Amino acid sequence: MAIAEGKRALVVGVANEKSLAWAIAQELHAEGAEIALTFQGEALEKRVRPLAAQIGAQVIGELDVTSDEQIAARFEDLRRMWGGLDMLVHAVAFAEREDLRDRFLGVSRQNFARALEISAYSLVALARAAEPLMAARGGGSILTLSYLGAVRAVPNYNVMGVAKAALEACVRYLALDLGPANIRVNALSAGPARTLSSSAIRDFHAMMHEVEQRAPLKRSMKTEEAGKMAAVLLSDLSTGVTGQTVYVDAGYNIVGL
Ligand code: NAP
Repeated sequence: MAIAEGKRALVVGVANEKSLAWAIAQELHAEGAEIALTFQGEALEKRVRPLAAQIGAQVIGELDVTSDEQIAARFEDLRRMWGGLDMLVHAVAFAEREDLRDRFLGVSRQNFARALEISAYSLVALARAAEPLMAARGGGSILTLSYLGAVRAVPNYNVMGVAKAALEACVRYLALDLGPANIRVNALSAGPARTLSSSAIRDFHAMMHEVEQRAPLKRSMKTEEAGKMAAVLLSDLSTGVTGQTVYVDAGYNIVGL
């Protein structure tokens, strides 16, 4: 039986066909889930609608995670449409391009706050909105996307690494808060993948090359591999797993030299 049969999933963070969120949405669909997608701004709506049509997903509307009003409106849409929610995918991050190069030291107070708000706080805001809908289904599973720069100093990743460290800590605290309602919260730490967001990181191709040389599997992660592990972490195959950061990076994180 498909592992997400009968499940309802909200996937936030599809920008285009290269997005990790899209790989996850496709895998969840293949595993039998019903999917709802959101978009950020008109330009992305034009990209998201045709993708949604490919997997029979509902595009429920705009969701800028800095807007409490939009968060409330989208979860109200879900309440009316489904009455509950089983799975939530948070695949959203932002840092100013100027902060993804050179020295971390130069980041401004404003840019630091914005990177952490969009990339880490937004998980808390979405989890809070999801809690009653998941509780109505007897529990649920929340998944966010992180990167090794949370725990290692990766050149050029800079403030985004600090945001991912905060994000992984949020995962642990949310897991503690939501566990009694049978809601699990995990992070998938993905290896580098060419997407709209990663194109902002200086020397991104050098990061990819390094992984291909040094990872135990001698290659980088394929986005569909992130999709498959996401489906496991979101599904009932992983009911004993919460508060974790799971690496899907061809093993790169274990290598010393
Ligand atoms: P992506 O396709 O560009 O997705 C990032 C998404 O975040 C976009 O849909 C973007 O929308 C959205 N976003 C940014 N600010 C937002 C806001 N205020 N409200 C709502 N959405 C907002 O890139 P991706 O690489 O798949 O990124 C998805 C997640 O995976 C991110 O958390 C990223 O850090 C993580 N990750 C990526 C890699 C990698 O190498 N690609 C590795 C590990 C982890 P806009 O385009 O409109 O800003």
